[in-house]
Amino acid sequence: MAEQWHFNPEMETLSRAELDALQVQRLRRSVVRSMQAPIYRDGAFAGKLDPETITSIDDIRRLPFTTKDDLRANGPFAYLTVPLSEIVRIHSSSGTTGTAVSIFHTSDDLANWTELVARCMAAVGLSKEDVFQNIAGYGLFTGGLGFHYGSELLGMTTIPAGPGNSNRHIQLMQTFGTTVAHLMPSYALSLMRNFEALGVDPKTDTKLHTLFLGAEPHSEETRLKIEEFYGAKAYNSYGLTEMNGPGLSFECPARDGMHIWEDQFVVELIDPDGDQPVAEGEVGELVYTTLARVGMPIFRYRSRDLAAFIAGPCGCGRSHRRITRLMGRVDDMIIYKGVNIYPIQIEKVLSGYSGITDNFLIVLENDQKGERITVEIDTEDRQLTTECAESDRLRKSLIEALRSEILVTVRIEFRQVAGDDALPRMKPKRIDDRRLK
Ligand code: AMP
Ligand code: ZN
Repeated sequence: MAEQWHFNPEMETLSRAELDALQVQRLRRSVVRSMQAPIYRDGAFAGKLDPETITSIDDIRRLPFTTKDDLRANGPFAYLTVPLSEIVRIHSSSGTTGTAVSIFHTSDDLANWTELVARCMAAVGLSKEDVFQNIAGYGLFTGGLGFHYGSELLGMTTIPAGPGNSNRHIQLMQTFGTTVAHLMPSYALSLMRNFEALGVDPKTDTKLHTLFLGAEPHSEETRLKIEEFYGAKAYNSYGLTEMNGPGLSFECPARDGMHIWEDQFVVELIDPDGDQPVAEGEVGELVYTTLARVGMPIFRYRSRDLAAFIAGPCGCGRSHRRITRLMGRVDDMIIYKGVNIYPIQIEKVLSGYSGITDNFLIVLENDQKGERITVEIDTEDRQLTTECAESDRLRKSLIEALRSEILVTVRIEFRQVAGDDALPRMKPKRIDDRRLK
């Protein structure tokens, strides 16, 4: 086990019993405080949980769930426990699944969030000796400012690079001696082409040793591919705007799942189609409650994100619960001929091939003859988009490899990148379900 680093040793090394007790105490405090917000005082939550009767964290199940639709329908003001004058920052979700949801933070909320990001960074061995390049959007998206303040709190030299010009990122890395970068996995893959075109090898021509990959699902295979190219350790960083953003969950040096900081969040795994917890080890929908949020506390938020718990203690010594890499979102789960398929399984197979990109679209169709599933894959190799022996060979190999991963026979179509029919990149849509119900 690698050497251990802690930003807040007291909170990070609490025993399970201490964490349980702290959660109960903080849930009580949050329930009391939430009575200041109209939605909790007068809405669906009213009278559901008397703080005096909370003796175990399981008592949280007496509260109703909060959904994205609830947050949209009621608007952020209904959830505020403080006047707007106490709010110092607003963030919004990306709105990929509809109208964006806004989350309001007080200065205490920002301090708590920032500490969690700093903890994640310290946990993987980063310190003030490091130079951090944040290749994330600095607007309402949480990945920009969220990572930025965590990095500064840790004392790292921070470059607020933002997204955009790829060659400039490489130039910045070389000029300032960047040792750590935060970026989306799909962007890490596409940036490889810029490195190659410029003749810069990140392994020898930069000081990069650590990457944070966040904001979208990616497979272990994709992580390994990125690590190999950059010659850096890549850590999964998962968060969502409703739970601050980055800092909710992170990988420690044991790299066996992601811890959730349970001193600030309660995490449940619920049957995506129902309201009961899933059995230990099963995939379920992650449901979160904020325990330290002052301005806009949220109880039992149905994230639509799918993962499973990892049982047992972690090699790093932290007792905060761990979850697996995300399988995707509930809306991304395909049921095809009775079989559950997750886009991440397709990505895992594609990442083992050269000549094609990681960008793909799963098309589902049906007619009198039954259901059909086609995987459309971007390629830079023009030849593959024509009927030839090479495309035939690759197609057969992919069909075989996908069959052993998802237990279903698919059709494969190659589409040329940069051509008119190329698939869109960055937080791409993975599923086009054209089936008639
Ligand atoms: P947003 O609130 O708009 O930043 O989007 C948050 C969503 O992005 C989460 O609910 C996840 O679905 C997805 N996401 C963020 N980080 C990761 C990650 N490391 N792995 C998989 N999905 C992620
Ligand atoms: Zn750990």
